[in-house]
Amino acid sequence: AQHIGRLIREGGRSFSFEFYPPKDEAGEEQLWAAIEALGPYRPTFVSVTYGAGGSTRDKTVRITARIARDTAMIPMAHLTCVGHTVAEIEAILDDYEAAGVRNIMALRGDPSDGPRAAWTPTDGGFSYASELVELVRGRGTFDIGVAAFPEGHPSSASLEADADVLVAKARAGAAFAVTQMFFRAEDYFDLVDRVRARGVDMPILPGIMPILNLGAIRRQGELIGTSVPQEIADRIQARADDPAAVRAEGIALAAELCETLLAGGAPGLHFYTLNRSKATLEIFDRLNLTV
Ligand code: FAD
Repeated sequence: AQHIGRLIREGGRSFSFEFYPPKDEAGEEQLWAAIEALGPYRPTFVSVTYGAGGSTRDKTVRITARIARDTAMIPMAHLTCVGHTVAEIEAILDDYEAAGVRNIMALRGDPSDGPRAAWTPTDGGFSYASELVELVRGRGTFDIGVAAFPEGHPSSASLEADADVLVAKARAGAAFAVTQMFFRAEDYFDLVDRVRARGVDMPILPGIMPILNLGAIRRQGELIGTSVPQEIADRIQARADDPAAVRAEGIALAAELCETLLAGGAPGLHFYTLNRSKATLEIFDRLNLTV
């Protein structure tokens, strides 16, 4: 009942929320306030990221364990290969198992110099996410999610090669994928088509990030390979002298994207909440999907 892959396939539309491990006490309060505010919407699952370089190992374990123990929500714990030997990864999986976490987002992670820097595997560790998928799969305890990239991973040779990688992760045992943020629905649908053309029917959840700060999204997008289409930037910039209107337009654009995605057959929506509930709930209200 705890396995996300089956819930997405059998449960109709899936809605999920992503959080990150906060740095300090104030951030911790904000996180739990957001979790509390979003809980009544009964997401299919909530996920907690794994800090760059494995820096949040203990926090990610602690937060997902508390969600499993104290809330009605199903947590998914992200896990990366950065800086870990296989033995360390095994120990982290033991912790998750003991904490009642039954879903793992299996990722390679990024080099410390960022997503575009050359990747050097840790001695005794893994080179690719597909190897982590295989290890997690072998345990039999967890359902596994993997990352997908509608515009291609920034170091992929081509969109076709990128689809091959995603398909390899599915064949290694991933039950579903969640995408990087993107702003053109066609990029998502084209990715789904490339995966289906390879004979793989794994559900792919679109990752939704509202543009509340165009400059910040552009900078982040440059790093991770997500572009902000000119027509979208234009709609936001047309309101540049009215912060409330800029925010409202960012929410409206995200809601439009969500509607197009669901109408086109996306199995659900995965919201990047940045540990806040407000923007996500504003999008929800516009979609008229509230329970
Ligand atoms: P992989 O699938 O291993 O791909 C990495 C690169 O290697 C790609 O360019 C791919 O094309 C190439 N590749 C893969 N397999 C092969 C092969 N067999 N031969 C040749 N090339 C290959 N990062 C974090 O640190 N913590 C998080 O919690 C986190 N959560 C994320 C959640 C989502 C939904 C997404 C989309 C990303 C997340 N990331 C996170 C970022 C992620 O770690 C980076 O995007 C990373 O650069 C790629 O991870 P991956 O799992 O896709 O790696």
